Amino acid sequence: MSRLVLRRLRHVGRPLSSQLSSCPPLPSTSLRHGSLRDSRQRRAFSATSPREIMETTGFTENQLMVREAVGQICAQFPNTYWQEHDQKEQDPSDFHAAMAKAGWLGIALPESLGGSGLGISEATMMMQTITESGAGMAGAQAIHANVYATQPLARFGTREQLEHTIPNIISGKWRACFGVTEPNAGLNTLGLSTTAHRLPDGSGYRISGQKIWITCAQVASKMILLARTTPLEQVRRPSEGLSLFCINLDRSQPGLEMKKIKKMGGRAVDANEVFFDGYSIPSSALIGEEGKGFKMILHGMNAERCLLAGEALGLGYAALSRAANYARERVVFGRPIGQNQGVAHPLADAYMRLEAAKLATYHAARLYDAAAAGNESIKQDAVGVAANSAKYVAAEAAFAACERAVLAHGGMGYAAEYDVERWLRECLVPRIAPVSREMILNYIGEKVLRLPRSY
Ligand SMILES: Cc1cc2nc3c(=O)[nH]c(=O)nc-3n(C[C@H](O)[C@H](O)[C@H](O)COP(=O)(O)OP(=O)(O)OC[C@H]3O[C@@H](n4cnc5c(N)ncnc54)[C@H](O)[C@@H]3O)c2cc1C
Repeated sequence: MSRLVLRRLRHVGRPLSSQLSSCPPLPSTSLRHGSLRDSRQRRAFSATSPREIMETTGFTENQLMVREAVGQICAQFPNTYWQEHDQKEQDPSDFHAAMAKAGWLGIALPESLGGSGLGISEATMMMQTITESGAGMAGAQAIHANVYATQPLARFGTREQLEHTIPNIISGKWRACFGVTEPNAGLNTLGLSTTAHRLPDGSGYRISGQKIWITCAQVASKMILLARTTPLEQVRRPSEGLSLFCINLDRSQPGLEMKKIKKMGGRAVDANEVFFDGYSIPSSALIGEEGKGFKMILHGMNAERCLLAGEALGLGYAALSRAANYARERVVFGRPIGQNQGVAHPLADAYMRLEAAKLATYHAARLYDAAAAGNESIKQDAVGVAANSAKYVAAEAAFAACERAVLAHGGMGYAAEYDVERWLRECLVPRIAPVSREMILNYIGEKVLRLPRSY
């Protein structure tokens, strides 16, 4: 192991052996003794542990170290944990705590702020390892915003925000959520109408408006919020007059309400409508310069697309690996179902799609990191095209893999105990968020193919 890796991993956390022993006890489960399990045993399925199917040749030493160490933590949270938390809609707070305790929430934050100083290439691998472990999107979303939404804060935050807020997010004391989407603006972020009205004495702002689909708002104590500080009619360009804030979510204060949204998948983590009605925040909540919030958000968008692409890949590999195991072992008409090309070929096809998406994902992450490190030969447009393309192809590859995994399981694909139905429900998220497939196609059509803008 190189000295560089050793030095960096010192910041990531304590030795693995102590990380493992410090994990909280896991809830016991009755599912393992359920009737489906019994019937599976009657059919003499083997208990072979799932084989890693992703080709890891070519990853850096750091990425492989991250994969191994994060995988060790995830192994403490088996599929039954995620099944139960999904069914009970219960927040995986002990998983978040374990990741925080081992130092992983600061993976892509500077060492000077208590982070590990690693890049998006390693953070993407971390997110992939989480979903691939079986935790799925629920596991990823439990920590995603803490890793990603802290990026603009670290880059543009005040000294107090850097010294006070970031360490508390890294340590897990505070959880963060990301408040951008609004019901009336949708993907047209520049049309958002939540306002932050500056008080005449300059001591603070009053927030009014509504956000929607805000993940983890119920458990977060901080929100990175995008709001309009200058009305749309008074700015030269719609991208101006938006400001970024790091606000306290103080439910005891008037003017703040939240309503949980019932959703299809990833039910362990909450998603919410958040209503602000004259909610007071101090002026110290502003990140960077007033009116420049959209630029700051843009800074983190490509990073977020890389992370989401990694999360999609992990889901796809988990589902495909499970399907291949099943297809080897399930015997119908006197032979394993995987001996039928009608079963085997779609799985092989799904594998190659994932491998291609993997190359696109880690290529985008590498470009992002190189540009962030000051490599001027890498233009932001190139990073944008690579990150959007990676998110698109990874989400599509994950969907193909998860759908095929359910179909290869036949009826059992529909049973919660086999996990593949959970992953299929969850794999729609990277197709929709943070930007939809259609908007990425619009972007590539316009920016790369120079076609007329359609919206
Ligand atoms: C599980 C989940 C978690 C989320 N977490 C967060 C979060 O933590 N914070 C946050 O801020 N947001 C979050 N989001 C919101 C997410 O980013 C948005 O749902 C997403 O950006 C799509 O916006 P929308 O739902 O308003 O779709 P809309 O803008 O209403 O679009 C609806 C459909 O129309 C299509 N469409 C719209 N305009 C065009 C056009 N010009 N050309 C072609 N097609 C078009 C879209 O592609 C889409 O298919 C989350 C969403 C989900 C589902």
